[in-house]
Amino acid sequence: MSDLRDLPSVDEVLGKLGHLTSIYPRALVADEVRRAIDSARAAVREGRSFPPIEAEVERAIGRLATLSFRHVINATGVVLHTNLGRAPIDGYENLEYDLATGRRGKRDVHIAGLIEHLLGAPGIAVNNNAAAVYLALHELAAGGEVIVSRGELIEIGDGFRIPEIMAQSGAVLREVGTTNRTRIEDYRAAMTERTALFLRVHPSNFHISGFTARPALGELAALGRETGVPVYEDLGSGCVARLPGIDEPLARDSIRAGVDLVSFSGDKLLGGPQAGILAGRADLVARLRRNPMYRALRLDKIILRHLEVTLRHLLFERWDAVPALRLIRRTPEQIRKRAERIAAEAPGAQVIEGRSVIGGGSTPDQTLPTWLIAIGGDVVAKEAALRWRDPPVIARIENDRLLIDLRTVFEEEEAALIEALRTC
Ligand SMILES: *Cc1c(COP(=O)(O)O)cnc(C)c1O
Repeated sequence: MSDLRDLPSVDEVLGKLGHLTSIYPRALVADEVRRAIDSARAAVREGRSFPPIEAEVERAIGRLATLSFRHVINATGVVLHTNLGRAPIDGYENLEYDLATGRRGKRDVHIAGLIEHLLGAPGIAVNNNAAAVYLALHELAAGGEVIVSRGELIEIGDGFRIPEIMAQSGAVLREVGTTNRTRIEDYRAAMTERTALFLRVHPSNFHISGFTARPALGELAALGRETGVPVYEDLGSGCVARLPGIDEPLARDSIRAGVDLVSFSGDKLLGGPQAGILAGRADLVARLRRNPMYRALRLDKIILRHLEVTLRHLLFERWDAVPALRLIRRTPEQIRKRAERIAAEAPGAQVIEGRSVIGGGSTPDQTLPTWLIAIGGDVVAKEAALRWRDPPVIARIENDRLLIDLRTVFEEEEAALIEALRTC
């Protein structure tokens, strides 16, 4: 094939890939078809031949679906093998070893492709989002100024405060606007030749209502492009997939809006292990990767394995395989049925309507409808009795009632919970 017009359309190729679209998300397969057609087009332009497009897509999906971080048998005799994860815990793994070439690899590769597919931009991961914020400020703004809206100078709790982490990174904070209102002109007016970065922070754990304003993300991105100053958004929770009842910005949407770099936690709405994900413009991500602090903040092999598994579940839309997402997706009706069954075994228990809380620094006031088991009597003594059991049962007291929300109780814990409620 030597003519661009002979290349098939995305739909034509998708039509021949029913065996893939019937088991994998169609959008994901379509993405791979687009990539394969793009590389075929580049090959035609350069007068090269290219492999059959359907086979390319099958190979790419196969690679994405296969666990990259794997158990390997270490027959080298090197006990603390750097490429195979140093001290083994559950055996050795290809942590920094490329199985295809037999050469040294990078630990990032196990998650890099998944992040790029999920967010539409390359990315890396570090120990938590606090580390991600620190690394981004340190690499992109040390010695310069970072412009932030006054309404976004948050404290998350336990020592994470934007002004303090900024000071540690070596960047100088330039606050603009007021607590409740900041306009795009405020950012522009605060610019000097030392301006290194525009920072946008998701106000995770509080909510300002009333007479408020902040520029749309697209406006800030446009100012960044016009002035050559990168825009970095700390998303906090960083939702990767749209979830029922959850109104959180999607990381992918920020990147689409033109933000140069985003970061968010791995163990909030992503539903994975403690980690901080940074993604965005390839040149900025490459700089963060080269910063000497990256090594100090990088992921451990155990976390990396869990993160890879979680990211793959998200990419393949296996929501219920991610425990936090499965709990968020439980319907009030499912919870009510369980509550009634369990309440029938606990003397004096009633089933009432209530709200579950998302928590974890996602948007405050964000709750989900649920049904609760409510217990009366000496609730202080009962609450303590539950807490002293093994395993401890953590419940809450509200309006002189002890409340149990099954949204967060796993099915395999029900027998122990029933036993605890009977004896308290
Ligand atoms: C939660 C949060 C952080 C800190 O993230 P960790 O993963 O706990 O380090 C930073 N910024 C925002 C906006 C957050 O919501």
